[in-house]
Amino acid sequence: GPLVIALDGPSGSGKSSVSRQVASRLGLAYLDTGAMYRAATWWCVRNEVDLADQSAVAALVAAMPLDIGVDPAGPTVHVDGVDIAEAIRDSTISTAVSAVATNLDVRAELRRRQREIIDVERTAGFSGGSGVVAEGRDITTVVAPDADVRVLLTASEEARLARRSLDVHGDADASSVEATRDQVVRRDRDDSTVSQFLVAADGVVTVDSSDLDFEQTVQAVLEVVER
Ligand code: C5P
Repeated sequence: GPLVIALDGPSGSGKSSVSRQVASRLGLAYLDTGAMYRAATWWCVRNEVDLADQSAVAALVAAMPLDIGVDPAGPTVHVDGVDIAEAIRDSTISTAVSAVATNLDVRAELRRRQREIIDVERTAGFSGGSGVVAEGRDITTVVAPDADVRVLLTASEEARLARRSLDVHGDADASSVEATRDQVVRRDRDDSTVSQFLVAADGVVTVDSSDLDFEQTVQAVLEVVER
């Protein structure tokens, strides 16, 4: 039957690229829930709302015309018809996203949409109803606690910083890692109300990728799926 895989992890754990690859290999859809929080943030910035104004932010996000494409070969993000796949990776969005993601009404709205997408993929979606890999921070615990497979992907701070640095600066030499450290440490702190969930809940399998390369991490997740 259809397979739902929930995968959570902190920033720099490699969860996005690993989830996407696992989805590709298993012929499943790929849902990046972080992209949804980033899209919500982009939408708020574009509409010039004060991010501290909780009710204004919630109202905007409730009406956000978001379209998330879940093909792992080419995931897409459009809001109001605008392709924002690149814009949401900008450092201005990375810095602001926690403010939007800690808004409880925003979380309720995006979780509702995430469950809707997972339901569609379980039945008649992109993958012909074969299922979905959904990744984020609260998928194993809140969005899809009933998923068939639940994985928490962890990595040491050192490994996470090196990966982030590669993503952002294209290398992981000392000065790039230091430049990345501030941003990662700040986002971990800003996300701490969300990330309290980043302790493996009952029934969630932890995969520590600190000493694994990309392919080894993908294999480790696939082994959990095959259990
Ligand atoms: O995974 P990514 O780094 O793109 O996530 C961006 C931000 O979205 C996180 O820092 C966090 O604030 C928020 N997020 C969340 N819940 C999720 C996924 C992401 O709060 N399920």
